[in-house]
Amino acid sequence: MDFDKIKAELLERKAELESRLERTHKHIYQKEEPVSANFSEQVKQTENDAIVKALEADGIEEIAQVTSALNRIEEGNYELCVACGAKISEERLEAIPYTDRCIDCAE
Ligand SMILES: [Zn+2]
Repeated sequence: MDFDKIKAELLERKAELESRLERTHKHIYQKEEPVSANFSEQVKQTENDAIVKALEADGIEEIAQVTSALNRIEEGNYELCVACGAKISEERLEAIPYTDRCIDCAE
């Protein structure tokens, strides 16, 4: 298994997620436009914020998974399932490089 290649891909993914998260974060917390006085506009804005916040939560979770995969490569247990200790198949790791569970333990 080519760990250097996987590592490069994970690092790239992490950088991509982080820059996306930064943009999302700005969208939520650094609004330049004043809050609209129009009620229906406000409702629309709140709904939009909820979607953006959900996306942000997903991004944070994926970054955590990618970071943990990178740590596991460093520790030398990248291919081992965290739940049962079995070796995760190469095909599975290729499909989901940040997975930490074998096919049997995955939901
Ligand atoms: Zn397992």
